Amino acid sequence: MNTAEIAIRAAAVERTGGCLCGKISYRVMGDPRVHYCHCDMCRRATDSAFAVLPSAGVSWPGKEPYFRRSSPLAKRGFCGEYGSPLTLACDAVVNEIALHVGTFDNPAELEPQYNYGSSQHLSWVRCGTDLPHLDTAERW
Ligand SMILES: [Zn+2]
Ligand SMILES: [Zn+2]
Repeated sequence: MNTAEIAIRAAAVERTGGCLCGKISYRVMGDPRVHYCHCDMCRRATDSAFAVLPSAGVSWPGKEPYFRRSSPLAKRGFCGEYGSPLTLACDAVVNEIALHVGTFDNPAELEPQYNYGSSQHLSWVRCGTDLPHLDTAERW
């Protein structure tokens, strides 16, 4: 296999995931950009201390999530049946949305590369503290 063939195979990697009840599933091609988000909106949306968000182009082979506007800049998607949070879609980003890492079938492959919303980082959260930190002024 030459370098071009390896590149084509890497680009064609398909990842899958879905909600807890199984009504909603998705497909992602290629390698998502992955980051921690420490903003308080992601905390509330995930019921957790922070979110881990792989961002990519996503397709929904069956039923799509319900989307709800969560701020003037973004919508969040969730399973309308049992409520699993699935996505964060920023209006300004057209070709990709963020998915919650825990909804991927193989989340261990998706290691975060940086932090976002770092000024809202909870002091007792130790994950990823050695990674780059970016901030956001967005709060709603
Ligand atoms: Zn569901
Ligand atoms: Zn966030």
